[in-house]
Amino acid sequence: MTDRIYLDWNATAPLREEARAAMLAALELSGNASSVHSHGREARALIESAREQVASALGARAQNVVFTSGGTEANNLALTPALQAGTERQPRDILLVSEIEHASVRSGGCFPADRVRTFGVDADGVVRLDDLEVALCGARADGFGRPLVSLMAANNETGVVQPVREAATIVHAAGGLLHVDAVQAFGRMPLSISDIAADLVTVSAHKIGGPQGAGALVVASDSLHIAAPLLTGGGQERGLRAGTENVAAIAGFGAAAAAVQARLAEECSHLLGLRERLEAGLRSTSGAVICGIKAQRVPNTVLFAHTGIKAETALIALDLDSVAVSSGSACSSGKVAPSHVLAAMGVAPELARGAIRVSFGYATTESDIDRFLRAWRKRLESLPTRHGIAA
Ligand code: PLP
Repeated sequence: MTDRIYLDWNATAPLREEARAAMLAALELSGNASSVHSHGREARALIESAREQVASALGARAQNVVFTSGGTEANNLALTPALQAGTERQPRDILLVSEIEHASVRSGGCFPADRVRTFGVDADGVVRLDDLEVALCGARADGFGRPLVSLMAANNETGVVQPVREAATIVHAAGGLLHVDAVQAFGRMPLSISDIAADLVTVSAHKIGGPQGAGALVVASDSLHIAAPLLTGGGQERGLRAGTENVAAIAGFGAAAAAVQARLAEECSHLLGLRERLEAGLRSTSGAVICGIKAQRVPNTVLFAHTGIKAETALIALDLDSVAVSSGSACSSGKVAPSHVLAAMGVAPELARGAIRVSFGYATTESDIDRFLRAWRKRLESLPTRHGIAA
């Protein structure tokens, strides 16, 4: 159906043409990238070219890009006590994560549950660096001197951009390492691994118009070593991720990363225009609260809440009007759980229950935004107590 409007790009973005073409070409190959014959070498060449493309988009060295099955796996690979920096062989002894991380970070990776602690955010959803410092001091006081900290670059629900560079300074001064989950920031803001000073960065293909089921963990320095990979067996991905590579998905990821790199400025300015249009439209309806409005946000995400609205009911009504949006995080779609992000920001549960996330991308048009606004107004008008709508 051509008239369906898709505004759930943070859940997954439509496949880019470049990614589709690269995948179709890769599917024509029959070699295993570990084989020495020419078929194998062709597959290997595609993987290494994709590695260069992903590395280049992030300002990293290709040899430090480890392909995984996605952001979730990359986060789990990174969050391990077995991270060795330089000649240090002692395990990382504690993991500190912000309260607004994705479930794949909050679950703590390979750290035991009693070695995972959190630090908070303010009412705009920006991480509190003073709280991070307190958490690091507390860990040290409890005898944990080799922390690993995980802080996302941009939040998947609110789009709020986090002060990762400042966090890196604090973490490094405390003898720690910083992992950054950049899944929602990649392709939506300039992102260079050296600028943010992270030690490890997670990215995912399907949020930037690559295929689902591919991602990468990017390591900042050759001297950082993961001594206990999640998957062991063959020596693929420099021994960090055993198993025959998904060549087509990796090729699609590389092509999407190259497209993002080539068009970032142009796409971001288009997204910003759409966000302004959407927010102006929302402001003309009384009672809409835009979450994180005072903070810096990626340009493609608007999370807003409305009293008197139940998000799940609104989503169904909007879907019947052929408009697809999401309520808070869609990674666990199907489950209606209160948003841990809004709870961490101190948003009242009655308001949080009505939170709707609209997320869009380069292919979204002004008319898509207008269609959403019309459907939204219709929804408000159908409520028992009519909410004020400006003309
Ligand atoms: N991290 C963040 C911030 C996300 O939003 C998501 C997915 O929505 C993930 C990690 C997981 O990525 P993947 O779907 O590639 O496993």
